[in-house]
Amino acid sequence: MNRESIIRHLTETEGVFDFIVIGGGATGLGVALDAATRGYKVALFEQSDFTKATSSRSTKLVHGGVRYLAQGNVSLVLEALRERGILRKNAPHLVKDQRFLIPCYRWWEGPFYFCGLVVYDFMSGILRFGRSMCIGPKRSVKTIPNLRREGLTAGILYHDGQFDDSRLAVNMVRTAIDAGACVLNYMRVINLLKEDGKVTGVVVQDCETGDTYQIKSHAVINATGVFADAILQMDTPGKRPMVRPSQGVHIVLDASFLASDYAIMIPKTSDGRVLFAVPWHDKVVVGTTDTLMKETLEEPVALEEEIQFILHTAGNYMTRAPQRKDVLSVFAGLRPLAAPRSEGKKTKEISRNHKIIREKSGLISIIGGKWTTYRKMAQETLDFAIRQLHIPTRDCVTEFYPIHGSKPHPDFSDPLYVYGSDADEIRNLITSAPGMAEKIHPKYAYTVGEVTWIVRNEMPRRLEDILARRLRILFLDARAAVEMAPRVAEILTAELSKDDAWKENQLNAFKEVASAYILV
Ligand SMILES: Cc1cc2nc3c(=O)[nH]c(=O)nc-3n(C[C@H](O)[C@H](O)[C@H](O)COP(=O)(O)OP(=O)(O)OC[C@H]3O[C@@H](n4cnc5c(N)ncnc54)[C@H](O)[C@@H]3O)c2cc1C
Repeated sequence: MNRESIIRHLTETEGVFDFIVIGGGATGLGVALDAATRGYKVALFEQSDFTKATSSRSTKLVHGGVRYLAQGNVSLVLEALRERGILRKNAPHLVKDQRFLIPCYRWWEGPFYFCGLVVYDFMSGILRFGRSMCIGPKRSVKTIPNLRREGLTAGILYHDGQFDDSRLAVNMVRTAIDAGACVLNYMRVINLLKEDGKVTGVVVQDCETGDTYQIKSHAVINATGVFADAILQMDTPGKRPMVRPSQGVHIVLDASFLASDYAIMIPKTSDGRVLFAVPWHDKVVVGTTDTLMKETLEEPVALEEEIQFILHTAGNYMTRAPQRKDVLSVFAGLRPLAAPRSEGKKTKEISRNHKIIREKSGLISIIGGKWTTYRKMAQETLDFAIRQLHIPTRDCVTEFYPIHGSKPHPDFSDPLYVYGSDADEIRNLITSAPGMAEKIHPKYAYTVGEVTWIVRNEMPRRLEDILARRLRILFLDARAAVEMAPRVAEILTAELSKDDAWKENQLNAFKEVASAYILV
C-alpha cells in the first residue's frame, strides 16, 4: 500500500482499464475488490481517505436487520443474513458474534419479539450465529446490570454481528491491491471523459500535488454514496437528484454504562425507530437517528436535538442515565438513501435496498444499501456492468475469498486483534527498538510501533487518517485523540519526510475536525 508506487503503476499501465470505480467507501471498495479478484484491470479513486464519509460512521453492525423483518422486507433480511455469515467467514478477525438483549416492558412484547427472532434465526440457516432465547426480568438485569428494572416483563436474547467498519475497509484495500487493483486515496474525479456520448474514462486530480491524469476504461462505476449526484451532474447536467441524505448520529460512552458484553436493542423508540447500545473497543456506541438533510457535508455535524434524543431515550432504559458530560465522542453520518420518486415519504419509510442505475452514456451508479451487503451489491453491480457494456464475462469469486488479515479463531482480548495476521509483524516492530514500545496515551494501549507500522503499511496521508480511521480513537474518545495528536503527528511527519510547517498544518486541521466530535 505505497501511494507513490501505485500512482506510478497507474500512469505506466498500458492500454485501457476494464473498470474505474469512483469512491473508496464500502460500496466502491467492494466493487474494486470484486473486479480485481475476477482478474479484471481496475482502478479506484477516493477523493479523501478511505471511508472518510459514511462508511466510517456506521453502528458497527453486520446484521440482517431485525427492523427490516418487522417491516416485512424478507428478501433484504435474507440477503443480509447470508452476507453476515459470509463476511464473518472471510474476515473472522473483524466480525464478532455480538449478543443482544431486547428489554420488554409490556406483557405482549416478550412473545412478540421472541417469535420474530426465531424467524430471524431460521432465516440465517447454517450461517446462524447463535440461538435466540426468552429470559425473565431477573436474568435480564443480571445480564445487563444497568438496565432499568421497573416494569420489565422479559428479555429476548439474540445474536448478530459486530465489526470495525474502517479497519475492514483498509483490509479490503490491501486485498484488492494484492489482487492487482490500483487503489488510491486523495485522488478526486473532477470530470468524465466521453467519446460519441459514451463515457470512456475519468479525469482525476491528485489532491496532494494538484497533478491531473486522464485515465481510460471500458466502464466507470459511480460509488460515491451521498455524493453520487455530483458525478451524475458531470454526466448529465440538470439531472433529477437520485440520493436523499439522511443523517444518523451516535454518541460514545464509557463501557461502565452497559457493564456487560451484551448490547441493548430498543426496537421501538418514541418516534418509532430503533436504538442500539453496542459494546465496541471497550466503549459503548449508542444510536442512531434518522434526520432528512438538505446539505451533503464531508464532515456532517450532529444536531442538538439528535444528541438530546439519544441521551433521553438511552436514559429511559438505563438506571444510570448518561449525561452530556459522559459523552466521549459524538459522530454523524449520512445514509445514501435512494430518493423515492414520490415526495413526502418519511426517511424511515424510504427503501434501504440499493439501486443500480445505468445512464445513456454507459455510466453506472450504485446507490444505497448497507455495509453488511457490500459484497453482494458489488457482485450485482459488476454483473450488471458486464451485461450492459458487453465486457467479457468472468465469474465472481469473493464469496470464498479471504480478506487481508483473515485469521481463524482470533483472540478478541488481544489489543491488536483487529490487525489479524498482521499483529505479529506489529509486535515485532514494537520490540525491535526501545522507542517503539513507548505508549502514546496513558489511558490507552497504542504505541509508537503500532502507529509507525500503520504509516508504513496502511496508506494514511494525514494525521486525521490515523486517529480517526486506523486507530479509531477519534470515534472512541475525542479528547484523548486531541491529546495524542502531537506525538502521532511527529511519527507521521518523520515517516513521510515532511517538515515542521506541514506538521503544524496537520495539527491545526485535525483539531478543527475533532472539535465536532467533542460535546461541550
Ligand atoms: C448512521 C448510520 C449507521 C449505519 N449503520 C450500519 C450498520 O450498522 N451496518 C450496516 O451494514 N450498514 C450501516 N449503515 C449503512 C452503511 O454505512 C452505508 O450503506 C455505507 O457505508 C455506504 O457506503 P458508500 O461506499 O456507498 O458511501 P461512502 O462511505 O460515503 O463512500 C463514498 C465515497 O466516495 C467519495 N467520493 C465522493 N466524490 C468523489 C469524487 N469526485 N472522486 C473520488 N471520490 C469521491 C467520498 O469521499 C466517499 O468516501 C449505516 C449508515 C449510517 C449513516
